[in-house]
Amino acid sequence: MNSDPAQTDFPVIQRVRHELRRRSLDVRTVSRLTPHMIRITLTGTDLADFTSASPDDHIKIFVPDADGSIARRDYTPRRYDTQAGELLLDFVDHPGGPAASWAQTVRPGDRLNIGGPKGSQVITGAIGHWLLIGDETALPAIGRRVEELSPDTPVTTVVAVPGPEDEQNFETLSHHIAHWIHRSLEHADDACGILARLENLEMPENTFIWVAAEAGVAKAIKQYFLQERHIPAQWIKASGYWVKGVSDASVKDVGAGA
Ligand SMILES: Cc1cc2nc3c(=O)[nH]c(=O)nc-3n(C[C@H](O)[C@H](O)[C@H](O)COP(=O)(O)OP(=O)(O)OC[C@H]3O[C@@H](n4cnc5c(N)ncnc54)[C@H](O)[C@@H]3O)c2cc1C
Repeated sequence: MNSDPAQTDFPVIQRVRHELRRRSLDVRTVSRLTPHMIRITLTGTDLADFTSASPDDHIKIFVPDADGSIARRDYTPRRYDTQAGELLLDFVDHPGGPAASWAQTVRPGDRLNIGGPKGSQVITGAIGHWLLIGDETALPAIGRRVEELSPDTPVTTVVAVPGPEDEQNFETLSHHIAHWIHRSLEHADDACGILARLENLEMPENTFIWVAAEAGVAKAIKQYFLQERHIPAQWIKASGYWVKGVSDASVKDVGAGA
């Protein structure tokens, strides 16, 4: 366990700034990755100098809102190839919200304006094992991290999705153990399933815990590790990627308070 308070070689979250750029892209393909996930391939010469230094980076997408204004929402660059001029985004297909509605109705040939990433948080240090926990919205970042890991760093994932057909396979050189929790989208703010799975989960030395989910769920998970497993906060990064019942809401660091 990495709960020794004397331990000083904590991982470091290094903030890298990128020049903030807006890009105008074409939708090349729209496909249904799983029942609740829509994959959109974007293309364009604007992607020539696109950069994303960390799997949990985000871009802003600009989509029409119901009142005619432009809504901005955060999405993860799931995969990108600057030479091919291609960027993949995965959208959770949830009811309500301009971003989800855009993804449900967009067609090849449509355009999308994006901004960023304006920064990356690169996690470095003596990480011996990754534990990645989240819901559907975290799957793009989790998938990307699992795929980008080297063979010498094992990874465990614990992800809540509506059903078995929403599970995803990731190709990786790393040793990957995947745990899937099933609950409906309406119950995506219920942390119980994930917390129950964490109860007996082994925590090898120097495990870095990364969490992204509905804000209340992310907070419950962080509190569990701090209070029940006595993991130092430096080994945990937990974000609320959305807030149940609130539009355009996220919580960068869900904090440790009760
Ligand atoms: C750093 C970061 C990276 C992200 N990456 C991704 C990503 O790659 N793919 C992705 O799909 N999402 C991602 N998200 C989450 C996404 O930004 C939010 O889900 C966003 O609220 C969706 O916008 P919307 O316009 O569809 O809905 P909003 O207008 O924001 O919300 C409308 C209603 O829908 C609810 N809602 C929002 N999201 C969900 C959901 N996932 N399930 C059920 N109800 C929901 C809200 O609570 C609200 O009641 C990310 C968020 C952050 C902070």
